[in-house]
Amino acid sequence: MNRRAALRFEVQAQDGHARAGVLTTRRGPIETPVFMPVGTAGTVKGIRFEELESSDLDARIILGNTYHLWLRPGIDVIKAAGGLHRFIGWNRALLTDSGGFQVWSLGDLRKISEEGTEFRSHVDGSLRFLSPEVSMEVQAALGSDIVMVFDECAPGNASHEDTERSMQLTARWAQRSKTSFDQLQATGADAGRLESNELSGAQALFGIVQGASHLVLRRRSLEQTVEIGFDGYAIGGLSVGEEKSRMFEVIDEIAPQMPKDSPRYLMGVGTPEDLVESVARGVDMFDCVLPTRNGRTGQAFTSRGKLNIKNAQWAKDNRPLDESCPCSVCRRHSRAYLRHLNMSGEMLASILLTHHNLAFFLDTMRGVRQSIRSGDFPKFRREFTERLSANGE
Ligand SMILES: [Zn+2]
Repeated sequence: MNRRAALRFEVQAQDGHARAGVLTTRRGPIETPVFMPVGTAGTVKGIRFEELESSDLDARIILGNTYHLWLRPGIDVIKAAGGLHRFIGWNRALLTDSGGFQVWSLGDLRKISEEGTEFRSHVDGSLRFLSPEVSMEVQAALGSDIVMVFDECAPGNASHEDTERSMQLTARWAQRSKTSFDQLQATGADAGRLESNELSGAQALFGIVQGASHLVLRRRSLEQTVEIGFDGYAIGGLSVGEEKSRMFEVIDEIAPQMPKDSPRYLMGVGTPEDLVESVARGVDMFDCVLPTRNGRTGQAFTSRGKLNIKNAQWAKDNRPLDESCPCSVCRRHSRAYLRHLNMSGEMLASILLTHHNLAFFLDTMRGVRQSIRSGDFPKFRREFTERLSANGE
């Protein structure tokens, strides 16, 4: 008998390269394509878990950041709580990144070697060391349902030579991540383990394809990653300063070549139009800080484009943020009121805009899924893109 898998993925409908399906983790089913709100420090900033679970949003999976949680509150605290789910009070699925991207983002403050990355903690200035083995250990202690391999990211404009060196390091780190992950699963280090009838109850591990904007290197990275073998595959290292057209060239080339029976995850991307365009190229999973971060700076995403709530033109505008949004914020509050809250520095402004933005991203993905299932995705994509150019009006 086959060893039971840590997750199951079934593509149920396809329209061109776009796929609609169900990803089942040990914490239940998730319809794809899916948007995952980012919960960096164990909180999706500005929104309560009840709201994330409400029918308004119904987020089935959120992200946690290994780097941030490892530095603060630290693994001892989360272990003592019995894992990240229990610590934060979230029973649905969790995906944790490996810390690779955060450490890479530190720029000159970190030193990369074959062994791993040395850097100074932004919390207390102490010298820390993150490696594939440490990352797997931390993610096991967090007990997330989907674990990401520890990778190295090359800047969007990196030369072929530099990108190749970085990509080969990522491949060696992917193998070390896998070896270490398997050992940790075998020794019961996973704090989030669940008994499950169909699934193994263990954590799932995703590999990451790197290679910046160099298609030859991207293809080789994909081959190397698939050869090691993972439960799902991610495209990393995009949206890091390269031209948007380059980003789509990479997605165009790589997404359709990724294993058809595994989930495909595009890391850290992007705007609502990026999501729809990437679904059209075969991507199933997304995460991005945009809806929450922009919600805190007064920017709303709507079906008619982005809207800055600070603009004087909304001062007496009694329409909701988005007239076609069914979320609780749009049902109750006007642009005029939200602008007033923002101008007064009220924290409710950030809370309400974050709620609406997440509702818009999650609702967009619901529309995407329905249209793929009904064979109307090209029409959905065309109309969605046309509406976005209306600048909130
Ligand atoms: Zn809304």
